Amino acid sequence: MTRSGVRSLIEQHGILPTPQRIEIAGILLDKPQHLSAEQLIEQLRSAGSGVSKATVYNTLNLFSERGLIREVMVDPVRKFYDSTTHPHHHFYNVDTGELADIPDEQVAFEQLPELPEGTERESVELLIRVRGQT
Ligand SMILES: [Zn+2]
Repeated sequence: MTRSGVRSLIEQHGILPTPQRIEIAGILLDKPQHLSAEQLIEQLRSAGSGVSKATVYNTLNLFSERGLIREVMVDPVRKFYDSTTHPHHHFYNVDTGELADIPDEQVAFEQLPELPEGTERESVELLIRVRGQT
């Protein structure tokens, strides 16, 4: 995505496109991917960016709130930021810490529970934890 493409996408989500936000979104939205805040900071550093950690965390929260990216919690201490924003399924490798998409057509639910009264379904997302065979 071009810099101006990133800029207008940020604006479409009601976010003021500061240079730092454009820089962060540029990396994250470059391709379908899952990055932790730490991985993103590493990539920013190796691209020569001086954006502070606090700015990165604040920006990621803002982007998630506005739906520019999607948060995926794999455990209480590990969060990924997903450039694919519609609900979808994942494999999470607990050995390597890698998160990967599962194509929708590979998942079918035979039965889902009745929803609690007065609620409607927002999304159903499957997270399958895997580890290397021993
Ligand atoms: Zn994903």
